[in-house]
Amino acid sequence: MSSQGPRSFKSSRAFLVRSADSGETDRRLSFFTESEGLVHMTAKAALRSRKRFGGSLQKYFLLDVSWTETPGRNAILDSVSLLASYWEIVADWERVRHADYLLELAATMFPQPGPKPKAFRILLAEMKSLAGGEPPPAGARKAEAAFLSVGGWGPDLGECRGCGRPSGTLGKGGASAVRFSLADGRFSCGSCTGAGGISMSLGAVRTWKALQSSSPSLLRRLRIPDRILEELQQVIPRYLELHLGKSFRSLGGIEKG
Ligand SMILES: [Zn+2]
Repeated sequence: MSSQGPRSFKSSRAFLVRSADSGETDRRLSFFTESEGLVHMTAKAALRSRKRFGGSLQKYFLLDVSWTETPGRNAILDSVSLLASYWEIVADWERVRHADYLLELAATMFPQPGPKPKAFRILLAEMKSLAGGEPPPAGARKAEAAFLSVGGWGPDLGECRGCGRPSGTLGKGGASAVRFSLADGRFSCGSCTGAGGISMSLGAVRTWKALQSSSPSLLRRLRIPDRILEELQQVIPRYLELHLGKSFRSLGGIEKG
């Protein structure tokens, strides 16, 4: 039965997220694309495909992918070409784990079809940074904070939930720590003693807030001091898992390993 729907031809910059054999000869591929978000497609006839697409169908490559969509059918991969390689990632197991985590994170947080230019640029910036030797945990926290912000998950770090004082003005002659509520995504300043929450330094609050700008150049430039990174390790992944309602295996391995 051939579908009579109109075929459409698409192309986009993309990262390969997953790849698996399908049936005798095909491969099922999932790409995170800039123009269409997460796209699942089939590479027909693996042996022939390997010749056609061979070395390019790898993770950690920035690819230019073309595919055909027919209503009611799997999208079919037409061509793929290499735009940039971040293959330095495979030199180090921690980089591989974090790069895989970021790919899964992008696919999980932005599964809806449609253009994803901001999320894609964040992913691209962090792939570059990981390949360039950025410490993987810093890259992961940056990407998490930026993805959360782009996806509208917050948190709202602008002001104290109690007195409304802006986070930028806190700490002058007062306490240098706040209590952050994972569930609400808001904080209470030192003067507004709220029960519960996680203690966070103002430095950590401000760093997280800066990461929310999700500008790729800022993400690349920003150096997170070790002390603040340790704090953010304790809070951003937990916040993300709570608000996405999902626990990430690759992340769990990193945090508890
Ligand atoms: Zn307050």
